[in-house]
Amino acid sequence: MHIADILTHDKVHFSFEFFPPKTDEASNALFETIKQLLPIDPSFVSVTYGAGGSGKRYTQELVVRLRRETPLNIAAHLTAIGASQADIKEQMDKYVEAGIDNVVALRGDPPKGSGAQYQPGEKGFMYAAEMVAYIKKNYPRVGIGVAGFPEGHPETPNRLKEMDYLKAKVDSGADYICTQLFFDNHVFYDFCERCQLAGINVPILAGIMPVTSLQSLHKIADLALGSHIPAKLLRAISRAENDAAIEKIGTHWATEQVFDLYDNNIHGIHFYTLNHSKATIKICQRLGLSIP
Ligand SMILES: Cc1cc2nc3c(=O)[nH]c(=O)nc-3n(C[C@H](O)[C@H](O)[C@H](O)COP(=O)(O)OP(=O)(O)OC[C@H]3O[C@@H](n4cnc5c(N)ncnc54)[C@H](O)[C@@H]3O)c2cc1C
Repeated sequence: MHIADILTHDKVHFSFEFFPPKTDEASNALFETIKQLLPIDPSFVSVTYGAGGSGKRYTQELVVRLRRETPLNIAAHLTAIGASQADIKEQMDKYVEAGIDNVVALRGDPPKGSGAQYQPGEKGFMYAAEMVAYIKKNYPRVGIGVAGFPEGHPETPNRLKEMDYLKAKVDSGADYICTQLFFDNHVFYDFCERCQLAGINVPILAGIMPVTSLQSLHKIADLALGSHIPAKLLRAISRAENDAAIEKIGTHWATEQVFDLYDNNIHGIHFYTLNHSKATIKICQRLGLSIP
């Protein structure tokens, strides 16, 4: 089912993001996580694509297995970095054949620390908007999500133009926007208002990722370049004696964010799970959802 159609249902939608495991053991652990998350009844789940355009096989395997073994609606991430138009066509054909109705079209980044510049492959796509247009034209039945950056994309020097670029993705055929994670809801509300002013009227899903350890804090800082980590949160974490205490603080912070987003009637909340269920389940339980 198209995520755009699901998002027309009048409720706050939950969705989960997973990354593809590379070993059987990690794969089994992920399917256990998914089993635990199923009672939350997510509107969809998404599967990331490897950094720097790597790991195509792992993403495809997980997407196809989820389709075969679960009732979930799935969005497969695709990145344009290093990919030729033929690569994207091959992946899209595979997904359509497997009955996948949704993809997330992303540009991708060169590997961290490589100093390399972004490069598409042969007849590939310089920006995500171009890939969105290609998918819309050639696979009109497939739903398309795109990325949004409430605090700005780290490479964009001009915040006004950035909204034009985001609008170009929507005008090219994107059905919804999923945001980079953020810790301050005002940033998200302001982003939604700026989208409205720019004439962007598709649903916007709020990206939430609870800090669960010192290691996860550093991972977040690395993944979400440009995302502001509030001093109040950092101060609370600095007082914590161990990771268990940090997890409590991070889960509490994310719960407060989710309560507030819920009360503000936003379209949906996209949890960056890092393939774990504990924090997400705790947040949803505190929201009053009955989860066994
Ligand atoms: C929800 C979400 C999911 C993600 N999933 C993945 C994943 O699975 N795998 C992965 O590798 N990465 C993923 N990323 C990271 C993403 O690939 C990078 O952040 C990337 O740098 C930006 O991708 P984009 O699709 O927004 O690119 P674009 O929209 O193409 O933007 C890239 C840069 O180009 C600028 N730009 C756009 N159009 C123009 C134009 N016409 N002229 C000049 N400048 C322009 C933008 O402002 C921005 O600075 C994800 C990010 C988010 C928020």
